[in-house]
Amino acid sequence: MVEDIIIDVVGSFSDGKTTLVRALTSESTLRHSEERKRGITIRLGYAHFMLYKCVKCASFSRNSKCEVCGGEAIEQRRVSIIDSPGHKTLMTIMLSGAALASGAILVIAANQKCPQPQTLEHLETLKIMGVKNLVVAQTKVDVIGKERAKENKAEIEAFMKSNGFEGIKIIPVFSIHDVNIVELLQEVGRFSAPKASSKEELSFLVVRSFDVNKPGTPIKELGGGVLGGALKNGGLKVGDKITIYPGVFLRNVWEPLKTKVVQIQSEFGSEKEIHGGLTVGVKTSLDPSITRRDGLAGSLATFADKPPILKSKINIMYSSLTEREKTMFKKPLQKNEIVLINVLASKVLGTVFSVSGDKVAIIMNNNAQIPCYNGDKAVISRKLDNVWVLSGSGLIYD
Ligand code: ZN
Repeated sequence: MVEDIIIDVVGSFSDGKTTLVRALTSESTLRHSEERKRGITIRLGYAHFMLYKCVKCASFSRNSKCEVCGGEAIEQRRVSIIDSPGHKTLMTIMLSGAALASGAILVIAANQKCPQPQTLEHLETLKIMGVKNLVVAQTKVDVIGKERAKENKAEIEAFMKSNGFEGIKIIPVFSIHDVNIVELLQEVGRFSAPKASSKEELSFLVVRSFDVNKPGTPIKELGGGVLGGALKNGGLKVGDKITIYPGVFLRNVWEPLKTKVVQIQSEFGSEKEIHGGLTVGVKTSLDPSITRRDGLAGSLATFADKPPILKSKINIMYSSLTEREKTMFKKPLQKNEIVLINVLASKVLGTVFSVSGDKVAIIMNNNAQIPCYNGDKAVISRKLDNVWVLSGSGLIYD
């Protein structure tokens, strides 16, 4: 059976992330643009490819002819790559992406000393999100000498080790000439795919939402609103009735939205039924004006009988990224401090209500409510020189 897996490719803009992704997905880029024309493909996943496994030597390839031995290779897993913006101010967006990913490729350029501040922040994010499957692609090895490349590798090794990622493979790649991309594929092939969970536990994280109708479409011909995201739990199929939380804010209360799944589209085509590990666009029977311009981004869709808890206040066991708090923030988390909270797909501003040891209570601002379950993880960012900077995380216990 073909498995689905979402991976994150993280690294600075200048570190060669784009050319690497292009090398990984060379076979699928054309089809990708075709899918895009159909309109409902989620704009969160920006690249994807099929990973084939060789019948003879068990190596992973990008096509049905094994890139290692030339033998016959069969479809093994559908890989969706999530776009993780490399720019610092966009880091908080990456948090919702990382919540969906099972593994990551960390791109580090060899022509700079490791770690650069952004590389550290990316690795800390992966750590916070609990991403265990990881491989480092060392880029730009061609622009430096052999000695320096070796030194850089040692720097990366020390950096990974000091962050609890000892033994992670570091693969020097030369994307433009397709050097070592196959080696990288072997690692991605070994990443553990999400386990299928029972269908009853449905939780679909809505990361984007949109209206795919062209302006001026007659009302009778309007297609329903589209939810972009991925499953965290359970399965979803065309025809399912789902409820979206917190829903819409009407007359001072949140009203959950009930709707029906009309169509499911992934980057690979039309899907009848999906499980985790795939970014999809789900067309619903909702009025498209509700989903327009990310109107429902941050929501959680479940079956009506398994609603999440809607929280206007969360209690967490907070643990800070120690090094960062010491070097960047002058004080620990303060009462009345405004923080940015990421839980599942939601991203909400809140105010620290109390701090007592590790126990931190935060109240959401602007009547916001977070749909989640006790035990979910809240990621906290604090403001530093007008930029949100990741500071720590904690499990929600109440
Ligand atoms: Zn082979």
